[in-house]
Amino acid sequence: MSNASLLILPGDGIGPEVMAEVRKVIDWYGAKRDLTFDVSEDLVGGAAYDKHGTPLHDDTMAKAQEVDAVLLGAVGGPKYDSLDFSVKPERGLLRLRKEMDLFANLRPAQCFDALADFSSLKKEVVAGLDIMIVRELTSGIYFGEPRGIFEEGNERVGINTQRYTESEIDRVARSAFELARRRGNKVCSMEKANVMESGILWREVVQKVHDEDYPDVELSHMYADAGAMQLCRWPKQFDVIVTDNLFGDLLSDAAAMLTGSLGMLPSASLGQPMANGRPKALYEPVHGSAPDIAGQGKANPIACILSFAMALRYSFDQGDEAARLEAAIETVLANGARTADLMGPEDGTPMSTTQMGDAIVAA
Ligand code: ATP
Ligand code: MG
Repeated sequence: MSNASLLILPGDGIGPEVMAEVRKVIDWYGAKRDLTFDVSEDLVGGAAYDKHGTPLHDDTMAKAQEVDAVLLGAVGGPKYDSLDFSVKPERGLLRLRKEMDLFANLRPAQCFDALADFSSLKKEVVAGLDIMIVRELTSGIYFGEPRGIFEEGNERVGINTQRYTESEIDRVARSAFELARRRGNKVCSMEKANVMESGILWREVVQKVHDEDYPDVELSHMYADAGAMQLCRWPKQFDVIVTDNLFGDLLSDAAAMLTGSLGMLPSASLGQPMANGRPKALYEPVHGSAPDIAGQGKANPIACILSFAMALRYSFDQGDEAARLEAAIETVLANGARTADLMGPEDGTPMSTTQMGDAIVAA
């Protein structure tokens, strides 16, 4: 894997700050593990708008289609709030997702032991937590037609349509089963088949994909509302959760808070397999550009570093090296390393972004 290609798009706000720490990790792999990447870097979001007048240049889009993986920091910031919708920084990210056809959004919720006390729930509920939510990202109620605000009689009506085709459900279900085989071998599918036709079809297709091609994986079905309750009550019962765009949006945000901080959460968005058999892929921290702390060296780089770990695992076939990186993070946290987002108001002086990156590389 010496010529695995990676496109880095640091973006705006804290994006470039956390990405600089990922660079250190990449350099370490080159120097110490003889694992090198063909890394190129480009602009996205406000940074691209400032230079090109568009949040994603066509050349950058073309490059993203060619590489093995894209790693993105964050986009947006107050400076761009008044821009026209068509050139807003967020449009750059949406264009990447759409043109790369990234239909499966993977959001792990993993609680590092050293942070179990800090998390929003009691320690026994979250210690050792390691679940993966697979959210369908390119269809469902956010995209279905008809949509809009229409006149109806003497009032207006707002309409969105939940719409799923069998093939859209089929492909995201396969992503979930494939993932489960590499993890705890368990999938829980969540919908509302009791009140939604799309939910009935969802359940049917997921079951069929399972019975035909993944009978070895343990499959269960849950109504999404009951699933939300179970997720808070006893999240460790889950391994992989597969769900639609809307429910996935809500459930993954809820699951995120089980782990403690936005600064700890990576994500991956995967599409169809490329010629080399690996899926098209974009990795990014769940957090945004955090304008309130940008430029101050306060950002936690772990979410972005964990996103790179996901790239190692899912795009570069380096699961052992990904585990090595995650173990280094566990070690520094266990040794008490904390950026400000991982501390309470009376917990002393936090580490800077750079100090946290250096500590992880050292570990
Ligand atoms: P977006 O609209 O892009 O999702 P947002 O406004 O929802 O952005 P974020 O930019 O993710 O939110 O930031 C939300 C809060 O979390 C901010 O107060 C920010 O300071 C904090 N935060 C986000 N990421 C980090 C990080 N890596 N380290 C420390 N704090 C963070
Ligand atoms: Mg947000």
